Amino acid sequence: MGKSAVYPGSFDPITNGHVDIINRGLGIFNKIIVLVGYNPNKLTTLFSVEERISMIREVIGDNPKIEVNSFSGLLVDYVKKSEASCILRGLRAMSDFEYEFQLALINRKLRRNIETVFLMTGSKWFYCNSSIVKEAAGLGGSVKGLVPDVVLKRLKEKFPDMKINNSGR
Ligand code: ADP
Repeated sequence: MGKSAVYPGSFDPITNGHVDIINRGLGIFNKIIVLVGYNPNKLTTLFSVEERISMIREVIGDNPKIEVNSFSGLLVDYVKKSEASCILRGLRAMSDFEYEFQLALINRKLRRNIETVFLMTGSKWFYCNSSIVKEAAGLGGSVKGLVPDVVLKRLKEKFPDMKINNSGR
């Protein structure tokens, strides 16, 4: 039996960059648990946990190798409980590195036998993150190509002025 990994994030909303990491992760792990993290005291997300989970499920479709869940506690405790052995994370620019490095070290300190595995972003998704997507969509710009169509539809419901098509490539 191969290994399982937990892929945690806020996924507010899921982008094509996240989808790329999940698909490539499936080439390494036999199962991936996409974990929507939330802080019950912070309600600053655009989409609720339920909305984020349902978008991820729609994007992934029926795949027995992928599970989608949410959590609000200590990540390493969730990983241990789920019997996964790794945390999967994506790396984009240098700006991700310092934060991800700190996170990986603290998680390793908390539970030594859980490793963090990083996948380098696909070059197409280097600048793609949920915050930029929300900002552009909120200002009426099209984010087509950066997020799955399911997400594009949900963003349009939140931001009716958002353009659906863009002239970029
Ligand atoms: P974001 O940083 O987009 O708000 P999350 O907090 O949901 O997203 O990120 C979860 C994980 O996915 C992190 O490890 C993050 O670095 C990674 N990730 C997010 N966007 C991309 C991308 N475009 N390419 C590769 N990894 C990504």
